[in-house]
Amino acid sequence: MQLIVATRNAHKTREIQQILGSDFAVSDLSAHPEIPATPEHGKSFEENAMLKAAGASRYLPGLIVADDSGLEVDALGGAPGIFSARYAGKNSTDQQNIDKLLRELARVTANGIQRSARFRCVIALAREGALLGMFEGAVEGIIADTPRGQGGFGYDPVFVPRGLEETFAQLPAEVKNGIGHRAKAIRALSRKLAAFKPPD
Ligand code: IMP
Repeated sequence: MQLIVATRNAHKTREIQQILGSDFAVSDLSAHPEIPATPEHGKSFEENAMLKAAGASRYLPGLIVADDSGLEVDALGGAPGIFSARYAGKNSTDQQNIDKLLRELARVTANGIQRSARFRCVIALAREGALLGMFEGAVEGIIADTPRGQGGFGYDPVFVPRGLEETFAQLPAEVKNGIGHRAKAIRALSRKLAAFKPPD
């Protein structure tokens, strides 16, 4: 089954392809420079995911999914949340965002306690401008004192999932793709997609 992800973030596309497996051919907007980026002016992951999926599905036929995701840190009142990608400013790098997160956390927490956090992912499914469904996933964890590991992307080097000791960037991709926020949302999506599967 063909699925287009309304993103130009190759890391997200790769994870979604790995989670869905070879029954799906996943592509993204990198092959469509003519499609404008949807402004993410929603106030929640849900709103932004809907805006992105509905926006791209006005330009492209077929099933379109959009993932809006981010990190919520309890000691920071849920920040960076929907601003995760641009926490340290517009066009900020993953490293700059992580540096800001660790700085902010050091300001508000004492002795390394209160580092609880979660990744959340909301996926919207759309076709021809109409919303077909919303799917969610979350994974709880804590923020590490310093970045560790080379895998993944974004805040993975500082996120230690609950019950484990290594960060998502240190763990094999299969572990993140088994317990992660995106994996949970995608598994819910794939149950819905079964309804759209053409008969064999
Ligand atoms: P979006 O493209 O507006 O959904 O922004 C998502 C941002 O949240 C990314 O740029 C990362 O900073 C962060 N993020 C989302 N999912 C992950 C993940 O799986 N690992 C690490 N960071 C993530």
